[in-house]
Amino acid sequence: MENSTILITGGSRGIGHALVKHFAKQCHHVITTATTEEGVEKTRDALREEHYDNITVLPLHLGQKSSLEQFLNRLEADNKMPDILINNAGVTNDRLALRMQEEQWNEVININLNGTFALTKACLRPMLKKRSGKILFISSVVASTGNPGQSNYCASKAGLLGLMRSLALEFASKNITVNALSPGFIMTDMTQKLPEEQKELLLEKIPMKRFAHCDEICQLAQFLCSQGASYITGQNIHINGGMYIT
Ligand code: NAP
Repeated sequence: MENSTILITGGSRGIGHALVKHFAKQCHHVITTATTEEGVEKTRDALREEHYDNITVLPLHLGQKSSLEQFLNRLEADNKMPDILINNAGVTNDRLALRMQEEQWNEVININLNGTFALTKACLRPMLKKRSGKILFISSVVASTGNPGQSNYCASKAGLLGLMRSLALEFASKNITVNALSPGFIMTDMTQKLPEEQKELLLEKIPMKRFAHCDEICQLAQFLCSQGASYITGQNIHINGGMYIT
């Protein structure tokens, strides 16, 4: 992995940010993204302050074709198409199904599924040329369980699993592995900010009685992107403290 260029989408916050710092210690070069110029600057500054000097932060909005095109042009011009791709960026826009607006449905599907597919397709071409590559999708436990109020998000994350399995089959003979990991609840700013009663309710559903640490997600992602996982493809690995057991 030490000679690899890795692209991790959505590295400005949360799990993506943890993944970026984790893989900066494993890989030659890390490329990550934020949706706005302001977010790009903020992320760059934060990483610079911590003395990470092998990370490039670029703007990318997966719901906007022009943004994706610009992003890909930049990677190609800099000769930085990735050897490893972690599709981490994702959004929610929750509402019960009968009240969900068409725009809400489309926004989440467009970013989480359509945009992720378009980016993955573009990254697959150079991987195919090299006859080597690793792709990892960050799905969610709710892709398997469903969740009231999240029909759009659950559909997008379940869609990623179908995409992952199909790509795994299409590219298995080309030395490109395609897998997913499905987190339960992770300790991020978002979960930290929840009211205590809501946290208690969530914890009741988790047999391990705690949220996952970002580092636990990073360790699993590292394994799935490593040589040690070279015979694993088309798999969705759950990481949820026993909340959902297949
Ligand atoms: P987060 O803190 O909300 O961060 C989301 C990241 O995605 C940010 O970097 C954000 O960039 C980026 N992003 C948002 N909209 C985008 C767009 N249109 N195009 C490109 N990038 C975009 O999320 P998180 O909690 O770390 O979750 C990361 C992934 O894990 C997501 O796919 C999520 O569905 C999945 N997941 C999370 C949990 C959890 O408990 N947190 C559980 C299961 C699965 P900006 O900063 O510019 O907005």
